[in-house]
Amino acid sequence: MEKFKNVDYFHTDDLLTEDEIMVRNSVREFTDNEVLPIIEKHYQMGTYPAEIIPKLAELGVFGITLPAKYGCAEMNNVAYGLAMQELERGDSGLRSFASVQSALVMYPIFTFGSDAQKEFWLPKLASAEKIGCFGLTEPDYGSNPGGMLTTAVKVDGGYLLNGAKMWITNGTIADIAVVWAKYNGLVKGFLVEKGFKGFEAPEMKGKHSLRASVTSELIFQDVFVPEANVLPDAEGLKAPLMCLNQARYGIAWGVVGSMMSCYHTALEYAKSRIQFGKPIAGFQLTQQKLVYMITEISKAQLLNIRMAHLKDQNKVKHTHISLAKRNNCEIALDIARVAREILGANGILDEYPVMRHSNNLESVKTYEGTHEMHTLIIGEDITGLSAFE
Ligand SMILES: Cc1cc2nc3c(=O)[nH]c(=O)nc-3n(C[C@H](O)[C@H](O)[C@H](O)COP(=O)(O)OP(=O)(O)OC[C@H]3O[C@@H](n4cnc5c(N)ncnc54)[C@H](O)[C@@H]3O)c2cc1C
Repeated sequence: MEKFKNVDYFHTDDLLTEDEIMVRNSVREFTDNEVLPIIEKHYQMGTYPAEIIPKLAELGVFGITLPAKYGCAEMNNVAYGLAMQELERGDSGLRSFASVQSALVMYPIFTFGSDAQKEFWLPKLASAEKIGCFGLTEPDYGSNPGGMLTTAVKVDGGYLLNGAKMWITNGTIADIAVVWAKYNGLVKGFLVEKGFKGFEAPEMKGKHSLRASVTSELIFQDVFVPEANVLPDAEGLKAPLMCLNQARYGIAWGVVGSMMSCYHTALEYAKSRIQFGKPIAGFQLTQQKLVYMITEISKAQLLNIRMAHLKDQNKVKHTHISLAKRNNCEIALDIARVAREILGANGILDEYPVMRHSNNLESVKTYEGTHEMHTLIIGEDITGLSAFE
């Protein structure tokens, strides 16, 4: 298939600095050269391409916005977003890996951790010497994490954890799990290390979506967590929600990568596929589909850049991020489905990335707050009336 060309109908590159373009291009090249040649094989086998983890660390994508003193790239939020976009152009599983490591493990340690926790964990996570996961969702509590049943009880020198988490990205391969549990009814954050007695992280199988990503259960049976592994500044449900906000921001950017991949594939295919004596790109109905795609991609790109600038100025609200996550995920899934239509039967083959993106996006639309949850978050913001319960 024709090599990927930049998709930039509204010249959004003009809104980027040289450094931001440099980050985007280096991750883009990495995706083209290192990810695309191997990703279908991993997707089919249901395995995460572990061989690329050290290369991702070398690219500086883990904790990209965090300070250089922890071994991080200390870039701005535009660069963070562009890196996520280019990874997800490869596969949502890759972007999920980077999102979890950065937004859901490094961010909480940086924001709520002690100096000792930051100094020990952040450089190791930035270099991918250690891998992390984030355990919030439980079998009976997904959209409503405040109801969680995992508990912590105070004992001499630390806490005992009991309960179970589900749908945890990277769980089985993680060295450290940021786990949220209730202590005296209040949510607290704990750093649970691989090998702690009573802690298990079996992999979940049978997924049709995000197959090139490890998803796990986390099981805690009287797991002793020493005092030194408690996040001292994480008090209440607000703490994990702040982490989700970071990850949702990355998702809003990431899915534009999936959109670009599907659009590029559909456009190239439509120009070369001949039916009724001419390329299908020459039929009005196909053009309408391609125009829909480029219109929505352009809108999502502009939305993301504006959101990034607001975030860099500390003016972004969680409701802005909800709007971008909600819109971009829905559009990305629609675009993947329309691209599949343009490719006809070929659209279901692994020779093209569209069905893989489409299947992945089913998860991406659901995790980090479902489409409906973000509707309710924005609905409450604009009306002042909560419709959650
Ligand atoms: C591949 C994958 C990876 C994941 N990785 C992680 C991870 O690393 N860490 C983690 O903690 N979690 C993770 N998750 C879990 C994810 O965040 C949850 O699946 C998500 O929050 C939704 O929860 P649920 O699946 O239990 O759905 P439910 O909460 O049961 O919702 C089911 C449906 O009901 C709707 N619904 C629920 N309440 C309302 C309401 N009040 N009004 C209207 N509609 C409502 C929802 O929108 C949804 O459509 C992952 C999920 C997947 C699929």
